[in-house]
Formats: sequence, C-alpha cells, structure tokens
Amino acid sequence: MQFHELLAILTTPWGLAVLGLCVGSFLNVVIHRMPLMLERQWRADSAAMLELPAKEEDTAAPLTLSKPASRCPSCGHTISWYENIPLVSWLVLRGKCSACSARISVRYPLIELSTALLFAACGWRFGAEPTTLLWCGFVAVLVAASAIDWDTTLLPDDLTLPLLWAGLIAAALGWTLPLSQAVWGAVVGYLSLWSVYWLFKLATGKEGMGYGDFKLLAALGAWLGWQMVLPVVLASSILGAIVGIGMKLSSTLREGRYIPYGPFLGGAGLVVMLAGPQRVLGWLGWA
Ligand SMILES: [Zn+2]
Repeated sequence: MQFHELLAILTTPWGLAVLGLCVGSFLNVVIHRMPLMLERQWRADSAAMLELPAKEEDTAAPLTLSKPASRCPSCGHTISWYENIPLVSWLVLRGKCSACSARISVRYPLIELSTALLFAACGWRFGAEPTTLLWCGFVAVLVAASAIDWDTTLLPDDLTLPLLWAGLIAAALGWTLPLSQAVWGAVVGYLSLWSVYWLFKLATGKEGMGYGDFKLLAALGAWLGWQMVLPVVLASSILGAIVGIGMKLSSTLREGRYIPYGPFLGGAGLVVMLAGPQRVLGWLGWA
C-alpha cells in the first residue's frame, strides 16, 4: 500500500475514529502521568536549589510516558497488550482488573470514545485531507490539557506552549489560516485574559485564573484566529458558569476549591473549531 492510499483511508471518518481510540488510550497515560512527572521534577529541582538530598523515589525509577508499563494501582498486576485495547478491553473486562477485580475508572473508555468522536468530527469538518490530521493533533492536546487541569488545576507549559508554536508554524506554512490572523490571535488571546486577571486582582485582591489559562487562550487564538478569541471567551464563560452553579447546587464543589477554567476554554475551542468561523459569527449576529 502506498503512502497516499494509507492517508486516504486514515482520513475517512472511520479511519479517524480508530486512530482517535488509539490516541485516546495514549492520552489516558499522559493525563495520569504528566502531573506526577512534573511534581517529581519540581521536588527534585527545589531540593537541588536548597541543597537538600532528593527523595529516593524522585531519583530511583524514572517515570516517563512510556516507562514503566501500566499497572493496576490496587494489586500491581502488569497490564498486557490485550488488556489495553482501547474501549474493547474495558468492555470485555467489564471495568474490572483481571487479577484483583478492582474497578477500572469509566473515565478511561470515556476519554478514548470522546477522542474518537472528536477525530471523526474533524474528518467531517475538514474532509479527507492531510491537514485534518493536524487538527486531530490540536484536539488531542486540548483533551489532555483539559483533563489535567480538571484533575489538578494545572495547565502544563509542556502542552500549552507547543500547541501555541504549532499553531503559528502551521499558519506560517499555509496549512490553517493566514499568518497575521494566527499571530494576532495569539496576542489577543494572551492579553485579553491577562488584563482580566489584573483588573480582577486589583479590584478584589484575588486571583481569578492562572497564567496557564492565558497561554491556552493564546494557543487557541493561534489556531482559530483573532476573530474567534471573543467567541471562545464568551462560550467558555457561559459553560463554566453553568457547570459552576450546577456543582454549587449539588454541593459537589467543596469549600475553598475552585473550578479550573482550562477545560471550558478547551471545550469552547473545540466547538468553535467544529462550527467554523462563518457559523460562529452568524450565531453572534456579526457575520
Ligand atoms: Zn488489580
């Protein structure tokens, strides 16, 4: 099979859905391990700076995205390849570890399924083109960043900054949108939330969001263009308010905890990407 034939199959909605299942499976590892890796790195750096001995677990077995192999957190059973088939294995195992029957979170198959659906939706939106795979990459980073922010209220620079650069480079290569729209998108995205942050801080003395949010919106601006920055902010604020009020009412939000903004920025970015700029401006009556 030749490369262009493989590409043609891969960029059909079904091909993209299968690719999305596999990428989603990898994203589960990223979502679980990246915060742990960062935390170890920060502890090791702080210990080095204070000239204290590093904790043994931070220096002994290195934790990376590929090593060690995935294990059951309850019994340590190493997960074999056939227990690691996206979606299928979770269903066959009925959400339980094959060794100790501990429950496996439904989040794993949900992340795989959502990534598959979003990849297929990219195929519907952008057609069977090589650049569709580029947008799938955009989706994958947003899924990982949103889930990590939801879990830890951290938006790692290791995700937001490469996403920003990739958006600018893709525009410079003529693959996405005109370069000036991408550059101004990044600038407007960063500065808009940065100004809101400082106004809020000067007015109330509190921090309403983090620098990770500015970087994420800068990345969204680089991919979607400056015209889409305000629609993304509006949609993410509405989404965030609905979920926030819902969590307050159902008292799932503990006192002193706050809801991260990143997942809503990511979600709004995906909606705007799939709808396309014309439709979004139409909804707002600005077309
Ligand atoms: Zn187990």
